[in-house]
Amino acid sequence: RAANYAKLKDLPAITSDGIAVRLMMNAGLLLDMQHLHECGADGIGLYRTELPFMARSSLPDVVAQTTLYRKIIDQAAGRQVVFRTLDVGGDKVLPYWNPYEEDNPALGWRSIRITLDRPAVMRQQLRALIRAADGRELSIMFPMVAEVAELVQARRLLDMEIAHAIASGHAEPRIKVGTMLEVPALAFQMDSLLPLVDFVSIGSNDMAQFLFAIDRGNPRIADRYDPLSPAMLTFMRYVASKCDAAGVPLSVCGEMAGRPLEAMALLACGIRTLSVSSPAVGPVKTMIRSLAVAPVRAYLDHLLKLPDRSLRDRLRAFALDHDV
Ligand code: PEP
Ligand code: MG
Repeated sequence: RAANYAKLKDLPAITSDGIAVRLMMNAGLLLDMQHLHECGADGIGLYRTELPFMARSSLPDVVAQTTLYRKIIDQAAGRQVVFRTLDVGGDKVLPYWNPYEEDNPALGWRSIRITLDRPAVMRQQLRALIRAADGRELSIMFPMVAEVAELVQARRLLDMEIAHAIASGHAEPRIKVGTMLEVPALAFQMDSLLPLVDFVSIGSNDMAQFLFAIDRGNPRIADRYDPLSPAMLTFMRYVASKCDAAGVPLSVCGEMAGRPLEAMALLACGIRTLSVSSPAVGPVKTMIRSLAVAPVRAYLDHLLKLPDRSLRDRLRAFALDHDV
């Protein structure tokens, strides 16, 4: 199979009914960048920047961050890299930083809530990203945004750093700004959100956690709800239709996107960009190239009306019947 996936590397991720899919890769270490070219992903749809912050005993400074981000952009060799700003807290604890015991860390002081409360940390990271890009196109994505006001606040910090870069004689930054959609509340502000962003990415790990009120790390309840449920897929389809109508690119970058059956369902919901772990690129591309989206989309219209808790068996049977 590995050999087969290697052959797929340079073939396009296009469905049998002609729909082009952007198949991206998730990364979090410099080491991951070599996989980008090996697996043939179209770019890095999610670069998790927190790992170097967690591996050290103090915050990396602007110089250290700039050096790292520059290497990442260099190694991408012109392919897009979507840098997600610091997403710590919740299940990603910074030992030197979060002094509080929280009863519900997943719902607590985490992610953009921290970096908006500690704007110097956010600004240093943005400054490092702008310097590293040095006039090359840069994509920045903010995590755990729960309301448009938070995105506006983050954007303001970015604008300050853009002005700062220009004033200090750096090349004019070319930046695409996106938001993660991980908190259901944000989906109820799509009309005010979409004019403010260049792209949206659904983090299905946190999204499922908050849609079902299910701790993503608790094995006792891990199988209780299925992402292939009418609730989750109706949500996906709604967000996809809003983004589509506004012409804003939408991706899914949670683990769900890397499992072929789930990826099939996401395509049926109208999602056209997936960002998956590097080992999942081959299997997902194989699925895409054997899939006709129109029939599964029509079938989903029917499935979403059912009261079932999981559509997994039906979708699997459909895939088998249609040689997906
Ligand atoms: C997600 O929540 O789906 C996501 C991609 O972010 P992380 O897994 O890093 O929380
Ligand atoms: Mg997340």
